[in-house]
Amino acid sequence: MQWEPVIGLEIHVQLATKSKIFSGAANRFGAAANTQACAVDLGLPGALPVTNEAVLRMAVKFGLAVDATIAKRSVFARKNYFYPDLPKGYQISQYELPIVHDGRIRIELRDGAVKEVGITRAHLEEDAGKSMHEDFPGFTGIDLNRAGTPLIEIVSEPDMRAAGEAVAYMKKIHSLVRYLEISDGNMQEGSFRCDANVSIRPKGETKLGTRTETKNINSFRFVEQAINYEIHRQIAVVEAGNEVFQETLLFDPVKNETRPMRSKEEANDYRYFPDPDLPPVVIDNAYIETIRAQLPELPEQKRRRFMDDFGLSEYDSSYLTASKDTADYFETAVAATKGEAKLIANWIMSELSAALNRDNIDINVARVTAEMLAGLVNRIADNTVSNKIARQVFGAMWRGEGSADDIIEKQGLKQVTDTGEIEKSVDEVIAESGAQLEQYRNAPPEKQGKLVGYFVGQVMKKSRGKANPKQVNQLLSAKLKNLGRG
Ligand code: ADP
Ligand code: MG
Repeated sequence: MQWEPVIGLEIHVQLATKSKIFSGAANRFGAAANTQACAVDLGLPGALPVTNEAVLRMAVKFGLAVDATIAKRSVFARKNYFYPDLPKGYQISQYELPIVHDGRIRIELRDGAVKEVGITRAHLEEDAGKSMHEDFPGFTGIDLNRAGTPLIEIVSEPDMRAAGEAVAYMKKIHSLVRYLEISDGNMQEGSFRCDANVSIRPKGETKLGTRTETKNINSFRFVEQAINYEIHRQIAVVEAGNEVFQETLLFDPVKNETRPMRSKEEANDYRYFPDPDLPPVVIDNAYIETIRAQLPELPEQKRRRFMDDFGLSEYDSSYLTASKDTADYFETAVAATKGEAKLIANWIMSELSAALNRDNIDINVARVTAEMLAGLVNRIADNTVSNKIARQVFGAMWRGEGSADDIIEKQGLKQVTDTGEIEKSVDEVIAESGAQLEQYRNAPPEKQGKLVGYFVGQVMKKSRGKANPKQVNQLLSAKLKNLGRG
């Protein structure tokens, strides 16, 4: 039997507002416990919520960017449940009437294919507080700083068919909220996390299978692992003649497995009803159009512009615009050169990205800044250093040894372009390489080209990589040709 996985994601994005969604308390990560929760966040009797207009603007921005319908009227509802970090006994969310619905987003798959994923809805809600199990043996600490933090929950259609597609979708949404500047997207701090819904069905079947929901995954790698684990687990369950049980799971990245958290609750367990303390959100066209006019350049537009303005390939442009930070880095660097867009692009995609991966850091805190990379590329463009030496300079910049110019100066890495000096090395190498010269002389002409490589290597070694490789090649080829005849 061939099985088809079906995946839908619910992504929770913390909105980067100054204050909370329904109170004036600060919305900032990392403050001392319980110093950023006011009477509203604590759920004290009589304290009344007031909607923060900034969250509406952010939700509309998001909706417009995913080509969704913006609801002219949406309603906050109470989702009732008990948890120690939810003092009110309910979470304010949106249920029947979310602010954004019926959108779509295009994702690029690893094989280059493009796929559209439907966005069912995106609704606003408040986050709950945090239970702390670690610092208090035998007790649970409650930190209510996070209570009332604004979230937008983005619910996809069950349109994904493989873990890789789900990751591509999640990355696309992550990039988009950063572009829109509605969230910092910080996954370590929980600003961007997702629930993965997974089911399987026989290939060709159109009905959906029973799904499980793995909660609160906060890294792209874990999403991929959790979904793959779930797909294999469900196939094994069904193939053993059993049924998949609809439940809520937690992913354990250490053991790389999911495990049950609770049986799946139904919507009616929550006794949703419109929050009587909050008026419906009513939005008119003028409001939407004002926001539309202020939308920043989105990834797709930027990609086009990079191709048109910088003459980059589609591949390079896609790579550079996949994240706003990378695109900004690229543009800052190019602006500090004489239009060396292609060289800057190449350095970002090769040396820089390798260094970032190796040290596992983000481009916006790269140890070689855009200005520093531009400084290096300027020295390549004006022939001060070869590409090979430039890689050495890059390594030194990465280690914090200074700017490209400093390093080239201090380490004496300036390329030798003085023909007389290069010729001297060439002559020395030829004189020292009797055996190779003999070989060269006896080789048929079509093999001689390859043998020149040995001499080039020796000359470059002699000059500690500093001789201009083009000149070395030209000089050697000419001299050897003469000697070869003799
Ligand atoms: P809930 O809030 O109870 O989790 P939703 O209706 O909001 O329920 O659906 C949550 C997510 O589950 C959506 O992203 C949806 O695409 C996905 N989903 C629904 N049914 C399935 C299924 N059978 N297999 C995989 N994903 C599913
Ligand atoms: Mg859910």
